[in-house]
Amino acid sequence: MASPLDLAHYIRSIPDFPKKGINFRDITTLLSDGPAFRECIDQLAAKLGHLGATKVVCAEARGFIFGAALAYKLGIGFVPVRKPGKLPARTISVTYALEYGTDTLHMHADALAAGERVIVLDDLLATGGTCRAILQMILMQHAIPVGVGFLIELDALGGRAKLIEGLACSPLIDS
Ligand code: IMP
Repeated sequence: MASPLDLAHYIRSIPDFPKKGINFRDITTLLSDGPAFRECIDQLAAKLGHLGATKVVCAEARGFIFGAALAYKLGIGFVPVRKPGKLPARTISVTYALEYGTDTLHMHADALAAGERVIVLDDLLATGGTCRAILQMILMQHAIPVGVGFLIELDALGGRAKLIEGLACSPLIDS
């Protein structure tokens, strides 16, 4: 059997983007390589598929890329989380703190059923603020978060501690 690709090899770091002092992990180099992108989705499916989720919830914009592919692979639904003013029907929202200021994310109020098992997927876990906000909206709808997946986890930022204690957390790359 072929050994799995080293996905870390396909990510590049761009210093001082979008502002000085930030070392931005650029995933477009992985997306543009067909076998690497497929391997990434296959690995996420292997880590998250057994959780019995019926929906994957993802924030725009990079989360959509991975979430849509995973939803197709697992045959489950895709729920978009978006910035204010983008979703057409009634929404719920969570506002959370950033280093400077706040951000707000929305989800359709009827996107999830009470008791439904859902996973959260994003390209990268940094401080955990984005994922925590998504988890809060899942709980507001009385659905059950059963796991979270990321392509990359920036361990040093401690984002995992902001998530629900004991929740299965599956990054493909630690850095
Ligand atoms: P957090 O809320 O601090 O955990 O940041 C995670 C969110 O910011 C994710 O939705 C990512 O898409 C985005 N993000 C933060 N840093 C990076 C990066 O270095 N590369 C790509 N996305 C990033």
